Amino acid sequence: MKPADLDALWMPFTSNRHYKASPRLLCAADGMYYTDDSGRKVLDGTSGLWCVNAGHNRRPIVEAIQRAAAVLDYAPPFQMGHPQMFEAATALAGMAPAGLDKVFFVNSGSEAADTALKIAQAYHRVRGDAARVKLIGRERGYHGVNYGGVAVGGIAGNRKHFPVGLAAVDHLRHPLDIDRNAFSRGEPAFGIELADELESRIVTLHDPSTIAAVIVEPMQGSTGVILPPKGYLKRLREICDKYGILLIFDEVITGFGRLGAPWASQRFDVVPDILTCAKGLTNGAVPMGAVLVKPAIHDAFMAAAVGERAIEFPHGYTYSGHPLACAAAIATLKLYRDEQLFERSAGMAPAFEEAAHSLRGAPFVKDIRNLGLVAGIELESRPGEPGARGYDVFLKCWEKGVMVRFTGDVIACSPPLIIDSAEIGRLFATIGDVLREIN
Ligand code: PMP
Repeated sequence: MKPADLDALWMPFTSNRHYKASPRLLCAADGMYYTDDSGRKVLDGTSGLWCVNAGHNRRPIVEAIQRAAAVLDYAPPFQMGHPQMFEAATALAGMAPAGLDKVFFVNSGSEAADTALKIAQAYHRVRGDAARVKLIGRERGYHGVNYGGVAVGGIAGNRKHFPVGLAAVDHLRHPLDIDRNAFSRGEPAFGIELADELESRIVTLHDPSTIAAVIVEPMQGSTGVILPPKGYLKRLREICDKYGILLIFDEVITGFGRLGAPWASQRFDVVPDILTCAKGLTNGAVPMGAVLVKPAIHDAFMAAAVGERAIEFPHGYTYSGHPLACAAAIATLKLYRDEQLFERSAGMAPAFEEAAHSLRGAPFVKDIRNLGLVAGIELESRPGEPGARGYDVFLKCWEKGVMVRFTGDVIACSPPLIIDSAEIGRLFATIGDVLREIN
């Protein structure tokens, strides 16, 4: 099933020249497994890219998409709508953390981040506080690859080609502190004081009344599974409240059961003003993202617009609330409920934690971080070659029929929430075997 020609495609997020010499091709998927082009089954240890939370090719989702495609291929969202758009929003609002029940649809996590940042800035403006324009993100934050997300994001490599970006941003330090917190299980004990940096920075370097929003991933996933220290997010919430700053949680990875609760907001008991999600919203089957906001934010826009043709928020995408995406979302959210997959994630988490931490003492393992059904295994870097060991582990696990993700020298595991004990055992045993084989 190898394509005849690999040249035309410029692949995203891939070392193209190297990959094309020996491509890894995923040709089919079912439940916990991919099938590659040779017919070999590969255990999915990463839910695709943190998105296939209910497992692959689930019939209720596939059939909902097929039914929708046969009825309504497309409907413009510009002064128009279609019934499933409203139904999907109601279903998502019904599952959201309390108080976040207005839904704006987009097509990806990147679009969700940029939309959330625009909503935050525009919100202050529509209620007459136009000085609040600055945005604060974090080092090692990842909010997608669009301009706003890259600006508030903190991955140096993603920013270096775009030095202009957005001027009005600042970054907090990330809370990873292996010296004090190595091998923590769940939230690390040390580091709450890092949240106080928000207050000191805005008071010392900015005028707090110029800050529109703070955006963080409750757990930083893409840059190596960085968990918030105990009390850290609550402290951020308090500081935002004190200074009238909006708090945005990017739950693109942490939403839909990943951390053993429906949302990280619930897991950490902190409700943001704006929440972004994507990925698990459709179980990865159709691109879709969403921004959830508190009614007060939504209502401020509605109140500010005067006249029948006044568009309250001049923003949206051709494919916002696409009929196929909405059908997929409705079916996915129902499946999560019917199969109680978020409860299942919480139930499997202790076994997952034990298996992840069984790698303590394996060659090169410097730290293991985990919560719910996520684990990050940080390796000592090979001298002079940062990231090389992580890449080797990824390639060798693939050869052994297990898909893991690497970010530099951190191996991330985030399997579908339907994983069973035997598969958890195989996932971490394979990583252990590989660590004993590499140098
Ligand atoms: N935010 C976070 C926290 C993410 O992890 C990701 C993707 N990994 C994104 C945003 C971007 O999502 P997308 O790739 O769908 O644009």
